[in-house]
Amino acid sequence: MTQPDTSPQDAPQEPTFRESVDIMFNRAVGLLDLSPGLEEKIRVCNATYVVRFGVRLRGKIHTFTGYRAVHSEHMEPVKGGIRYALAVHQDEVEALAALMTYKCALVDAPFGGSKGGLCINPRDWEEHELELITRRFAYELIKRDLINPAQNVPAPDMGTGEREMAWIADQYKRMNTTDINGAACVTGKPTNAGGIQGRTEATGRGVQFALREFFRHPGDVAKANLSGKLDGKRVIVQGLGNVGYHAAKFLSEEDGCKITGIIEHDGSLFDENGLNVEDVRAHIVENGGLTGYAAATFEPQGAKLLEHDCDILIPAALEGVINMTNADRIKAPLIIEAANGPTTSGADEILRKKGCVIIPDMYANAGGVTVSYFEWVKNLSHIRFGRMQRRAEEARHQLLVDELERLDDMLEHRWSMTPDFKEKYLRGADEIELVRSGLDDTMRTAYQAMSKVWNENDDVEDLRTAAYLVSIRKVAASYRAKGL
Ligand code: GLU
Repeated sequence: MTQPDTSPQDAPQEPTFRESVDIMFNRAVGLLDLSPGLEEKIRVCNATYVVRFGVRLRGKIHTFTGYRAVHSEHMEPVKGGIRYALAVHQDEVEALAALMTYKCALVDAPFGGSKGGLCINPRDWEEHELELITRRFAYELIKRDLINPAQNVPAPDMGTGEREMAWIADQYKRMNTTDINGAACVTGKPTNAGGIQGRTEATGRGVQFALREFFRHPGDVAKANLSGKLDGKRVIVQGLGNVGYHAAKFLSEEDGCKITGIIEHDGSLFDENGLNVEDVRAHIVENGGLTGYAAATFEPQGAKLLEHDCDILIPAALEGVINMTNADRIKAPLIIEAANGPTTSGADEILRKKGCVIIPDMYANAGGVTVSYFEWVKNLSHIRFGRMQRRAEEARHQLLVDELERLDDMLEHRWSMTPDFKEKYLRGADEIELVRSGLDDTMRTAYQAMSKVWNENDDVEDLRTAAYLVSIRKVAASYRAKGL
């Protein structure tokens, strides 16, 4: 996982991550007419559970510390990922849980906000050890209803993926054998264990859809001192993990963007003609970093590339990488926050004053939780996703049957297509298409709501404030409707 090589700790005047989120919240809430009591109720984190548990590994007991923060229960279940990283701490999970509340409200995913973390470097452990640790952590959370389909539904985050989610779902089922909705206790599961197609790519796909929608608003594009289309734009991506990789891949393969720079934990790569994302990714998977990649200019001081000339900067790794130590040197006119909290509140102010447009995290990376919502609904409905789209399905079904048959012809019928394969193929194609179009719709609608607030109110200076305003209004309305 990507580690930043500039950190907010270098700047003594920088607030913590949670304080930073609160400062941004306060800027927006100051423009609303909420009662101070309600304002405070929305801002604070409801509860954080800290657990320390032991697991016997390699002949001795190892103690691990984990967290699950619940920010707001105005809607239940609450939702948010579980992060595995050595630096996880309470302030961080509380900040991330707050961002989940605002993110879900913004994209109308009917959840409150939560987040969890485990202080662990996943690379220090073997797979079977990670399974034991994950199951034990899940056990602690499940028995306190901090993992539960109706109350609290985790998902992948940094350092976790579908493998960990499958272990968690299985652990829940072992402890709740009669819960027919057990699969919905966690999202981001593998497709053969109750997951949904398109969840792994969802956050990166959402970044792509967000940028496409931004470039459909020429007035907003002009505010960033840019013009024209997404096609041909020079992009620098920080972090080629799941989110950064998918965003860079889709933007370069489908939208004509040039990925001129990639930053990772051990350095950066630059090529003004555009890097081959698949190639770089393959190099990282094999070598653990960018070092040794010969087809572009390598720089060991990776974070310097954040300051390089480009059209779009995509921080897709950790929080706080754009901070008061580097904000005034950032040249990108447009930043899209694929990570959670990559810009500190101090840096946000510097960049805003410089006229840089920031597409904020709570919107930019909402693709993950949006598709998590589809997965949760699919699990609860117990109906194959897309079943209701009968007519569209039938029309497409015929096209796909033809396509399969053509393929079989081409292979001179050496490939004996089994009915089972055919059925799977047809079902899969249908689901991914539905997921992508649902995600696209969600990203478009949410952007339009933010952009309207940004453009129609003189005192709303930036998209982040607009995003907070849209979501705080929804959270406040739901607290008012149900009473505190
Ligand atoms: N961890 C992701 C996020 O920060 C996904 C959360 C979810 O799907 O619940 O948005």
